Amino acid sequence: QVNILEVRNLKKYFPIKSGILQKTTGHIKAVDGINLEVKRGETLGIVGESGCGKSTMGRTLIRLYEPTEGEIIFNGNDITHLSESQLRKLMRKQMQMIFQDPFASLNPRKTLGKILHEPLKTHQLYADNYERSERVAELLETVGLNRSFTNRYPHEFSGGQRQRIGIARALALQPELIIADEAVSALDVSIQAQIINLMEDLQEEFNLTYIFISHDLSVVRHIASRVGVMYLGNLVELANKEDIYIEPLHPYTKALLSAVPMIRKKDLSKRERIVLRGDLPSPSNPPSGCVFHTRCPAKMDICREVIPTFKDCGSSHFVACHLYE
Ligand code: SF4
Ligand code: MG
Repeated sequence: QVNILEVRNLKKYFPIKSGILQKTTGHIKAVDGINLEVKRGETLGIVGESGCGKSTMGRTLIRLYEPTEGEIIFNGNDITHLSESQLRKLMRKQMQMIFQDPFASLNPRKTLGKILHEPLKTHQLYADNYERSERVAELLETVGLNRSFTNRYPHEFSGGQRQRIGIARALALQPELIIADEAVSALDVSIQAQIINLMEDLQEEFNLTYIFISHDLSVVRHIASRVGVMYLGNLVELANKEDIYIEPLHPYTKALLSAVPMIRKKDLSKRERIVLRGDLPSPSNPPSGCVFHTRCPAKMDICREVIPTFKDCGSSHFVACHLYE
């Protein structure tokens, strides 16, 4: 299979409850109908402002959430509504996630060795504790840390080291797909570069596929081979990196890129900074027609009423906009 992951019309809605009876009075439409294919071995960047549904999409793909609607096909298996025990068989090891703060969920009183040991034991990998310890030490070396670190505690590590540990934890189960959600966003620029280089080396060594979620367009530009742009729970544009950064089609993508001075200087020299009017609409009550029409500088009459289809404008450059119908 060329595609490791196929996503059809994916939706994730969260109920809004209110009143003493906690009645559902509406829904936050965090992810609202996404279609996507992820090719084996690629790095797909997902960009968009905070609150656009990137993280929810990542967590739904890895089945931390059950989708409200749609399909997720991983390695040819439909994992959309599988039970936890079925998921363990088909994708829990194969799909891993890296978070902004990999230590947020870790017990500060456990040594690094113990922390890395746990997933191996849970999934009954390797014959015994000795082999597992050996594997843990090896993992640390793989991510550029010293094997003696197994005896240390989480608070003893710097931000960059912590993210290396987060990566080691993700690698422990030998995954095929890693979803990184703002994985380098909290780090200094020089440390960001080191972590990205590490991720690229590991990708080559272990034939990994990445979905790299970030609000930072410059970072995504370094690591991604294709880029998807999200707005209000929708994927509005998806194309090869060069097409997105040099010839963006969707008015939202153009505005987003125009706000990054370095990128603007390099590729969009003739383009002005595009400042969007109005606020981001609420995901509980998204605009009719094109979700971007309330803020779009190129809005037409049709945009308010008709939802633009997400379609290929040639060379796999997908865009959802009536300008390109
Ligand atoms: Fe703007 Fe209309 Fe295109 Fe939406 S469909 S991005 S409102 S031009
Ligand atoms: Mg997020």
